[in-house]
Amino acid sequence: MQALAIMYHDVVENGDFESSGFPGEGAHVYKLRREEFVRHLDAIAAATAAVSTVCKLEGRPVLLTFDDGGVSFHHPIADLLESRGWRGHFFIATDRIGTPGFLTETQLRELHRRGHIIGSHSCSHPTRMAALARADLDHEWRQSIARLSGVLGDAVKVASVPGGYYSREVAESAAAAGVEALFTSEPTARVGVLSGCRVLGRYVVQRGMSPEWSAGFATGSPSHCWRQSALWKAKRIAKTLGGGKYLQLRQAILERKG
Ligand SMILES: [Zn+2]
Repeated sequence: MQALAIMYHDVVENGDFESSGFPGEGAHVYKLRREEFVRHLDAIAAATAAVSTVCKLEGRPVLLTFDDGGVSFHHPIADLLESRGWRGHFFIATDRIGTPGFLTETQLRELHRRGHIIGSHSCSHPTRMAALARADLDHEWRQSIARLSGVLGDAVKVASVPGGYYSREVAESAAAAGVEALFTSEPTARVGVLSGCRVLGRYVVQRGMSPEWSAGFATGSPSHCWRQSALWKAKRIAKTLGGGKYLQLRQAILERKG
């Protein structure tokens, strides 16, 4: 089983990166300008026949996912997807619901009603999810799913791992909390199964990447998918050298001007 899932975050208008999602340059590098995002959607539409949802995992579906729960999911993202007849997977860090820059409960209900898939992205968005004790992992998944299910009046069965800090225990804890499909940040089309939960990789799109990347991911183009996979593996080696050190290094790189 394979799936081509693409990971986006916020989409902002007028270059106002503070307007939606987490603040700071570390988060802003994942946010796209509206006009940039439109070009990415156009490129996907030109390259592939259909965008699907995790509810219909047949063949090798193309899935569009969005992390964190910023208010831009409601506008402009959902509107832009719907204008093409598409739906998104929106993953919500539930502690942020209703706070500045994040979706409100009413907006979440509306997105759900409009056919988008709402999932958990933990409660508190821990910096290093995989480093949490099992009890804390269980709390992050169970509480966030209970909150979202309560808001939507419907069972929530999908989730994505904050920061991409995935481990087997992260997935087992999610599965125990009722998650049936868990999205990671590993750039792979392969769909695994762990404790009855499907584990799906995702290809990430960051600010400044050309629309051809989205089209390449949506078609499984080797030059795009393999290249991101190779970069990710190199990064993982750096992370194994020391999670704390990697985060310091990443921060230093992100804060470098020029
Ligand atoms: Zn996140």
